[in-house]
Amino acid sequence: MVEHVAAGLVENNQIAGAVKVFPEIGDSREALLSMPADNIAAKIAEVVKSLAGGNSLSAVGVGFPGIIREGVVEESPNLQQIKGFHLREALETAFASSGARVPVRIYNDADATAAGIAATRGVMGKLSRVWTLGNGVGFGRYPWSPGAWEGGHSVVTLDPKENFCGCGGRGHLEGILGHRAMRLRFLDLEPEEVFENAKNGEMRCSEFVTRCHRALAAATATSIHMEGPGTFYLTGPNANWIDVGTLDRLVHDMVKMSPLQGSRFEVIPTNDDLGIIGAAVSAAAASAAA
Ligand SMILES: [Zn+2]
Repeated sequence: MVEHVAAGLVENNQIAGAVKVFPEIGDSREALLSMPADNIAAKIAEVVKSLAGGNSLSAVGVGFPGIIREGVVEESPNLQQIKGFHLREALETAFASSGARVPVRIYNDADATAAGIAATRGVMGKLSRVWTLGNGVGFGRYPWSPGAWEGGHSVVTLDPKENFCGCGGRGHLEGILGHRAMRLRFLDLEPEEVFENAKNGEMRCSEFVTRCHRALAAATATSIHMEGPGTFYLTGPNANWIDVGTLDRLVHDMVKMSPLQGSRFEVIPTNDDLGIIGAAVSAAAASAAA
């Protein structure tokens, strides 16, 4: 969620029935930005209850943008009002008030997407990493592991003039590849136009598109040097702007130690289902383990 919340009932790693979305299509895209934290929690609980339709749920998983720790949203740059909010407690209380004891788990949204990819592709035994390219740049991984994992804020340049990241930090991947950052950089062009112009050979735009690829390759190479090689999935509204062949080549230039070679990239069209499935599957596994 950032612009909207999507919810679904998950059975056997699949969505059963319809996905519910709020604010509904046609409502203001900004509605969530101005909604107080309590109301967001109440609305999530209401949608979940209506999906359950009186049946008991084994667990509820929520994917939420930002840094999540023990059910608390510690930081959420795009939904500032929820910073410090104990979302898990608020949801469990809401379910308890209607007589249901349901364990709730909150995950970073990119982690939920990574879990959804692992579950739907049958690769839950492997390390899967995902870059979500949209307004910001998210980094998710499965299996879930405690940590901040703010890969979108990897430092990919030492140029002190690179200061477009939404977090305010200098030299960050998101400051180059994030949609918001691109709009700040190209005040005269929309990001879509930048990539279109680059295809037509316009110099300033093609240089920037090359820089985007180098930045993403650099952050990926850092992840490989820290955690080893593997599959990196690209998803989110802007994933289609990335040329996987170029990215492969750049990473190959950046990672030379032979035990660390063999990573690959795959673009997965953006969709809400992966996050819903991933949050549910992770929550069910976590509450079963507890
Ligand atoms: Zn940043």
